[in-house]
Amino acid sequence: KLELTNAEQWIKLFTSKLDENVSTLNELDTAIGDGDHGTNMERGAKAVKEALDKQTPADLSALFKTTAFAMIQKVGGASGPLYGTAFLDMSKAAKDEADLAKLVQVGADGIKRRGQSDVKMKTMIDVWQPVADDLSAGPLTADQVDQALQSTKGMVATKGRASYLEEKSVGHLDPGSQSSAYLFDSLIEALG
Ligand code: ADP
Ligand code: MG
Ligand code: MG
Repeated sequence: KLELTNAEQWIKLFTSKLDENVSTLNELDTAIGDGDHGTNMERGAKAVKEALDKQTPADLSALFKTTAFAMIQKVGGASGPLYGTAFLDMSKAAKDEADLAKLVQVGADGIKRRGQSDVKMKTMIDVWQPVADDLSAGPLTADQVDQALQSTKGMVATKGRASYLEEKSVGHLDPGSQSSAYLFDSLIEALG
């Protein structure tokens, strides 16, 4: 069960990790995309932090809604609407659901719907879906998150910009999966 204080910590840790890893995310995106994923997420992180500083969210639903709006407005690219949809759907679900595994599954489903994507397409779904599964089976570990992230390396991208490279996308981590790994590493720390 996710409490508001843990969730606030979760999102704040996520914004810090995004701030600290702008160049890592940009480099991953330079290899198989257009090199802006770190910069995109950094803009979103700043907006999320500002919004949360301005008004303390009253509940889980409000926290996720604030996060969603900031990301939709500021991240841009493919990833902005996808993260935005995930958090917006989690915000709606959080009105009568606080089970962490179920909320993350709702987020993953939102990304799939919005992105017309599913597992094995070398997108952030390859982190979100295994994490949702792992959470429903027991406490999430950093190893599980890393395993999901590393699994994207061997995949051929069939969605997003990396799909233009076809087989040449193999051998590189998916940038959106790396930012999602930061999200779930932050979750583990916040629950710690
Ligand atoms: P852009 O590709 O527009 O420059 P970003 O670089 O910010 O956007 O984000 C790229 C990431 O978005 C990819 O690494 C991938 O994880 C994710 N992504 C792109 N398209 C999709 C999709 N259709 N479904 C799920 N995730 C996607
Ligand atoms: Mg990009
Ligand atoms: Mg771009």
